[in-house]
Order: sequence, then C-alpha cells, then structure tokens
Amino acid sequence: MSKPLQNQVSRIAEIAKLSSIEDVILRLTNEFPGEVIFSTSFSYEDQLITDKILSNQLPVSIFTLDTGRLFEETYSCWRATNQRYQTQIKAYYPDHKLLEPFVGENGPNSFYESVDQRKACCFVRKVEPLKRALKGNSIWITGIRAEHSSNRHDIPQVEWDESNQIIKYHPLLHWTTEDVKDYINKYNIPYNILHDRGFVSIGCAPCTRAIRPGEDFRAGRWWWEDNTKKECGLHIHQQVAS
Ligand code: SF4
Repeated sequence: MSKPLQNQVSRIAEIAKLSSIEDVILRLTNEFPGEVIFSTSFSYEDQLITDKILSNQLPVSIFTLDTGRLFEETYSCWRATNQRYQTQIKAYYPDHKLLEPFVGENGPNSFYESVDQRKACCFVRKVEPLKRALKGNSIWITGIRAEHSSNRHDIPQVEWDESNQIIKYHPLLHWTTEDVKDYINKYNIPYNILHDRGFVSIGCAPCTRAIRPGEDFRAGRWWWEDNTKKECGLHIHQQVAS
C-alpha cells in the first residue's frame, strides 16, 4: 500500500471512530461521490446497514450476490426489503460462461468433495461476480463483525483490500449480536427468518446449517471442512490500518 493510500485509510479510520455510522457514510459519499458501495446478503447486520442507508437516503449503491443456491427465506427477505424501502436491490449473478462448464465438468454439488472444489464453486458464484460489482468503486461497506470469526477479531474497522483494490469500512465490527438484534427489533426491520432457527451466518443453502448454542459462529458454514479453511474469498484481510 502506498503512503498516500495508507494516510487516506488512516484518516477515514479516525473519522469512523468519532462519528455515527450515518455521518461516516455521508462523509464518504461526499468525498467519493458515486463510488461508495454496500454488499448485502440480507443478514441481520446487512439489514441494519441497509436501513441506515435507505432511511437516511444516503447515495450508496446496494447490491447482492445471487449465487443461484440461496435459501428461499433469503429471497423472501430480499423481497420484503424491496417493499419496505420502495427499492430494487441490484443483483449480480455468476457468469454463465464460467458456471455452465464448471457444473458441466464437476456436477452440481462438487463443493462437498474437496476444499479446492468448494473454493472453485465460491469463485464462480461469488468472487468473480463480486469483482464486477466492486469495479470502479472506492469504498466498500460491509456487515462484518468481529464475533463472526476468529480471524476477524483483530481486523481494523477501515482497511485496504489489496485483492479488490478498494477501501473497506466495517461499521458494525464491534457490535454484539444483541446490539444488532435490538436495533432490528426497535425499528421493525425485515430480517431473514432463518436467524430465528439457529442460523447465524447465512450463505448458500447447501453450505449453511443452524448452529447449536455455544457453537462457534462459523460452525454453520462448510461444516465438513477444517475450520482454518473456511473463508470463501470475499473477505481477505491482508493489510491492516488502525
Ligand atoms: Fe458454492 Fe457453497 Fe460457495 Fe455457495 S457457499 S458458492 S454453493 S461452495
């Protein structure tokens, strides 16, 4: 990361420490007009941020990645969100030129066969569409929380994403699950009802299950794999700025 970029990340990190989420996003949209983007998977966290953006009419592009393997409950939440905020959240889909040969060669559920196959599926269905979605933007807002995964405990609230060449802002990084739930309930925000059935981190249907009380948050994702390999390539934390 170049020195000017490092200074920019540090400066935004200072702003993020002192201001409300709405104010930080507003400042970012003033500073980077048309280049602030938010990715939602319709999780609790993402619904909260969507509410902050749309209730305050902040000029942020909101998108989701429709992998083609999402839960029906996720589509219901998507629809309820569109209705509540009178919007149409933009979706990015896998490139059929990649997906068709991938499924043709490996079958529909090859992610259960090996970590490499799973990562290849995540690349086609998530990572490549994400790169298209982020292209041309400067700031990526995410719903990441430190509680979600052991490798997210030490990440900064504002960081440089080398693989996507973008600055990431995680407004809810230090919020607890209870903080998020309280906000969702207080403002009666639509949410994915799978959260009421023990699902914590909700992704694709074949790769997500509910967790038991006390189980690690990531235990519900790719449960057949070693814990250390459980990232899908969307969030790679490389360079750190505090
Ligand atoms: Fe494929 Fe599962 Fe990754 Fe979804 S989470 S893209 S189905 S491997």
